[in-house]
Amino acid sequence: MIYPIFLCLFLTLFESSIFKMSEGDRLSRESPPNFVVIFMDDLGWGDLSSYGHPTIHTPHLDRMSREGQKWTNFYTACSVCSPSRGALLTGRYPIRIGLGPTTGGSRVFFPDSKGGLPPEEVTIAEVLKERGYKTGIVGKWHLGHLPQFLPTRQGFDSYYGIPYSNDMDHTQGWNLENLLGEPDITKWNVPLLENDTVIERPANQHTITKRYTEKAIEFIRENRDDPFFLYLPHTMVHTPLFASEDFLNTSSRGFYGDVMAEVDWSVGKILSTLKENDLDENTLVVFTSDNGPWLIMQEDGGSAGLLKDGKGTTWEGGMRVPGIFYMPGTVRPGIRTDLGSTLDLLPTFASMAGVSLQENLVLDGFDLSAVLKNGTASPRDHFIYYRNRDIYAVRKNNFKAHFVTATCYQLDNNRIEHEQPLLFDVDNDPGERFDRSKDLPEVVAELTRLADDHKRIMVAKPSELDKR
Ligand code: MG
Repeated sequence: MIYPIFLCLFLTLFESSIFKMSEGDRLSRESPPNFVVIFMDDLGWGDLSSYGHPTIHTPHLDRMSREGQKWTNFYTACSVCSPSRGALLTGRYPIRIGLGPTTGGSRVFFPDSKGGLPPEEVTIAEVLKERGYKTGIVGKWHLGHLPQFLPTRQGFDSYYGIPYSNDMDHTQGWNLENLLGEPDITKWNVPLLENDTVIERPANQHTITKRYTEKAIEFIRENRDDPFFLYLPHTMVHTPLFASEDFLNTSSRGFYGDVMAEVDWSVGKILSTLKENDLDENTLVVFTSDNGPWLIMQEDGGSAGLLKDGKGTTWEGGMRVPGIFYMPGTVRPGIRTDLGSTLDLLPTFASMAGVSLQENLVLDGFDLSAVLKNGTASPRDHFIYYRNRDIYAVRKNNFKAHFVTATCYQLDNNRIEHEQPLLFDVDNDPGERFDRSKDLPEVVAELTRLADDHKRIMVAKPSELDKR
């Protein structure tokens, strides 16, 4: 009589172990997932139809939002380009990785910069290479353009793209008149690189989104039999704007909308390439932006929607960005209002790929894989808003305290140190209009404590951005 019970128990254990393998570990043990990160330049929180824009049409991104997870409280680690990109690739705040400039220093790399992301910093590409991933970057690097700092020195097998912002190397002066509208490409003598070699100068930016897309598709097809990481940081929608002919005058949001229509087309092409190659269910696609909209660019700049201010600031519009995660069959669809950040991508990918990180690697990111797969609460409890080497603000739950505020670029531009920090309920008041600090001193005290604790343990590196 014991025998059938034993058999039954055996079958139950057998079935449950099969179930566990197929639901949990099978992918990471047998065929780790691919990762595609589509990273926009200066795209605002309010610039997609799925995030409420009334006249920008982004059907492919809307489908990703609907069938994947759309995060509404997703943050970039810095409100300008280079530090934001370094933080995404390393899972570490810019100040830790030599990208926190000193007062008065450059906030991003320029064509005369001598620095870059320090080679000893560990990027997502380097982490995944340990697991046999093929790694490619197509697009804007902006972490040092000198040979020793190029992507091929930071774990990427291949590179194709403009190495810094598309408004640099200006030949006729940097002014709004030259930046707005669709300018002549010779006004911006930016190079296009293939691996470490300049293959075109000035880069023909009219076709840049199209060509990035073709290169990305080529990379996916070539690596369909290996696990891969494709990092696709678009040059668009940074001003000066460019779109290829097929997309000009197609959007009711004007030129910016045309450029976004091409970006959305590009997203659609990436998704359909994954599907055609039977990779869609084993590829996590992430879509986000490096910082908020460049508001001085008038109609050629984006929109932060309900949020206050934009690029360059630690107001919500500068650092809260769209965050979409898509992997049919794995990412549980829904709208996430938890806190998440581009800092979280490295630990999330490492976890999903089954890579264990070096024990002495100090990260500022959290593993979001359980949120993505099971819809559990985000492990990120708070978010710290840095500008240069200083903490300007901290958010926990729905409250955000500002210790310092300033507008866009200039360090002294309305820079105010708040002896009594400002406090906003950013769920009820995403426009940060109504200061609650007087009613809620205990919340201000808690957020101040978080900032002080963080400062105590932060080990900063000297700024690479200051080297020019
Ligand atoms: Mg940017």
